[in-house]
Amino acid sequence: MNKHDIVIIGGGPGGYVAAIRAAQLGFNVALVEKEKVLGGTCVRVGCIPSKALLVSSELFEHSKTKLKEHGISATNIKFNLKQLLARKDSVVKSNTDGLDYLFKKNKITRYLGSAEIIAKNDIKITGEDAQNITAKNIIIATGSKVASLKGVELDGKTIGTSTEALNYKSVPKHLLVIGAGVIGLELGSVWRRLGAKVTVLEYLDRILPGTDVEIAKEALKVFKKQGIDFKLSAKVVSAKVVAKKAVVEIEGQAAIKADKVLLATGRIANTDGLGLENLNIKTERGRIIVNNKFQTNIANIYAIGDVIDGPMLAHKAEEDGIACVEILKTGVGHVNYDIMPAITYTEPEIASLGKTEEELTNLGINYKRGVFPYMANGRARALGNTTGKVKVLADATTDRILGVHIIGSQAGDLIAEAVAAMTFGASSEDIARTIHAHPTLSEILKEAALAVENRAIHI
Ligand code: NAD
Repeated sequence: MNKHDIVIIGGGPGGYVAAIRAAQLGFNVALVEKEKVLGGTCVRVGCIPSKALLVSSELFEHSKTKLKEHGISATNIKFNLKQLLARKDSVVKSNTDGLDYLFKKNKITRYLGSAEIIAKNDIKITGEDAQNITAKNIIIATGSKVASLKGVELDGKTIGTSTEALNYKSVPKHLLVIGAGVIGLELGSVWRRLGAKVTVLEYLDRILPGTDVEIAKEALKVFKKQGIDFKLSAKVVSAKVVAKKAVVEIEGQAAIKADKVLLATGRIANTDGLGLENLNIKTERGRIIVNNKFQTNIANIYAIGDVIDGPMLAHKAEEDGIACVEILKTGVGHVNYDIMPAITYTEPEIASLGKTEEELTNLGINYKRGVFPYMANGRARALGNTTGKVKVLADATTDRILGVHIIGSQAGDLIAEAVAAMTFGASSEDIARTIHAHPTLSEILKEAALAVENRAIHI
């Protein structure tokens, strides 16, 4: 029977990163994954393919709407959906091939199959590499899956999830998205740009729950202007296929018909078939309970990423994985969950970090705010991307940065500076006095930091 120091279950961003770091630290490490390729939801059917489609659809839209003002003429701009989807698949493949290479380079053993924990140190693998293996330590990194919604009958064709929406074989005439969260807005944007009429149904009276309200309001305005139709305070109670069309019922409102329905109302931890019950591994609201060392109630069994508490984000899972194996090696490891960026990759992008204004108000924390618009930045004007703003929130007494919220072009990259600054406990004055190259979008963050003390220069 094969023996390993660490066996990781699940090859997504949490699992594969933990495996690579564990190998670097000198552990004999193995990973069990039921799919033929590594990368998990994120690389196969999530982050990476959606970003590929967002880029293609944005290029198409910009070619139609933005070239003229540059004096560039192009007529008869069309796209070939088959090729557009094939490019997306090749982007995914280059990522999964890269992971194969990294696993070989780091001499990580791979097992293809489903893992069930049958005893404290024993795992039963079923599938292609069926066998039993033993492990000193086990790390569960099985991620999450789409949460079902009562009354919504998924058929994978007309009514489906993000997995299907990454692969529609023709542009739907009318796409109905249930849920105005990250998935709904990213994939809704893709198909709107490619010509679909898109209606987003959202239970709450706002979009992007958890995002700073001022930023979410601006986002709603921009998406409406782009042509997405929103129905807020709309609770979907059922969705079924009737005569090849989807019929979606909303509480207290008329039903809507559509060609495709995308269910995007959240994800739940994936613990199917893991054998948690064999060892009585404890869960709470479906997610595995761990202590601050990622340990479950069984001392040598750990869990990381979406399957435990916290935001379901690939970079969170990666940091969990690194901290977990470093703890196994050294006894210490840490993730700062208070400084966790979250990005929505629409155009404009939306990036959130730290506390929102609403959270600070609820906590009774006195804060100062500095806001600077993209419109007043030279580079943004040259790029033709003047929509949006950066907002810096700092403690009223200490000036320590408590939150940064951005809506605008490249927000996801701009927020990285704020992540580093907050990680080092920076004040808004630290950013305000840091030299930012001119002309760059990064100056918007500097100006927002200056605005905290009402001394922005270019407004
Ligand atoms: P979400 O939780 O972000 O949003 C779901 C939305 O559906 C919410 O606004 C909710 O109010 C709404 N909703 C719930 N029930 C409803 C009903 N009956 N009728 C109408 N609306 C309803 O979920 P998601 O967009 O599915 O994303 C799932 C997870 O994946 C999230 O944790 C997200 O952070 C993660 N994710 C992240 C990224 C990224 O980082 N860019 C991209 C995709 C997914």
